[in-house]
Order: sequence, then structure tokens, then C-alpha cells
Amino acid sequence: MTSKLSGPVVCPGSFDPVTLGHLDIFHRASKQFEKVVIAVLQNPAKSNLFSVEERIELLVDATADLSNIEVTSFEGLLVDFCKRKNITAIVKGLRAVSDFDYELQMAQLNHQIGGVETFFMSSNPTYSFLSSSMAKEVAKYGGSVDLLVPTNVAAALSRKFS
Ligand code: ADP
Repeated sequence: MTSKLSGPVVCPGSFDPVTLGHLDIFHRASKQFEKVVIAVLQNPAKSNLFSVEERIELLVDATADLSNIEVTSFEGLLVDFCKRKNITAIVKGLRAVSDFDYELQMAQLNHQIGGVETFFMSSNPTYSFLSSSMAKEVAKYGGSVDLLVPTNVAAALSRKFS
């Protein structure tokens, strides 16, 4: 029997930079879905530490052990990106209740305007406090980010702040 969830799913985000929390979601999603597209949002209005190209490179290196992952970028509406790539579902990690209001609204909007479903995965409790901003803040003040981000990102952060 063919699984109805056999198509690709997308994990969208800024990933400025990718953290161990994101990676945990990618690993778990790659076990559940045939293909996982990691889509880096290009948003010129947001000031990011890493360029889109740098963020993609960090993501590609950090997910090199996963064979069913594609890393790319998009601008504009996520539902339009999904349409172009024949993607019918989004996968998002939920850290805490504080994520819920916004994520629920986005999920409902994306379903309403694009017919795209959203699957939520509960974050690994080890990483439920973790965000890219937190990792950048720690790195900025010379703290160790070894337990927060993959090794390639730790090296890139120390280059940025050296
Ligand atoms: P944003 O899109 O708000 O800039 P990020 O790029 O930081 O967010 O993260 C992209 C998505 O990854 C989030 O919407 C969330 O679903 C998920 N995520 C972020 N941090 C974690 C974490 N520590 N554990 C699990 N999932 C996370």
C-alpha cells in the first residue's frame, strides 16, 4: 500500500544559524517522510548574522549524514514555494506554549490560502529553551556553544565574533 505521506515536506525558517534543536527536528522528520526540504527564508527586512548562502552551507554540512534532505532558499509566501515544489505539508518544531499561538495562526493561514497542512513535532526537551538568537548571544560574549549548535556552526560563530 502506498503511504499518503510519501511526498516531500518542508521545514521552513531563518536558521540564522542552524541549532541542535533544528537538527533534532530534521533527523526525526527524515525518518517519517520520504524527503525533507529545508527552506531558508530570504527576508531582506530581517537583519541576519549569516547570509543566506552561509546559512545554506552550514545546513548542508550539518545534515550531510541524512540522505533524504535537500537544502534550498525561498522568498515570498511559503505556500507559493510549496506549490512550485509540489509540497503539500510543512513540518515545524514546537518548543513551548509560547510558540503555539503564532504557529497555530500560521498553520491555519497556510491551510486557508494554500491548502498546505502543517505537522507539529514536540521539541526534544533538551532543546526546548534553544533558539538561534540565544546561541548567537552566548557566542557574542565568548561563551561555549558546544551544547547548542553543531561543530561547524560553533566554528562559524567564533569566526564571526573573533
Ligand atoms: P524563525 O522562522 O522564527 O526565524 P527559526 O529559523 O529559528 O525560526 O526556526 C525555524 C523553525 O524551527 C521554528 O519555526 C520552529 O518550528 C523550529 N525550531 C526552532 N528552534 C527549535 C528547537 N530548539 N527545537 C525544535 N524546533 C525548533
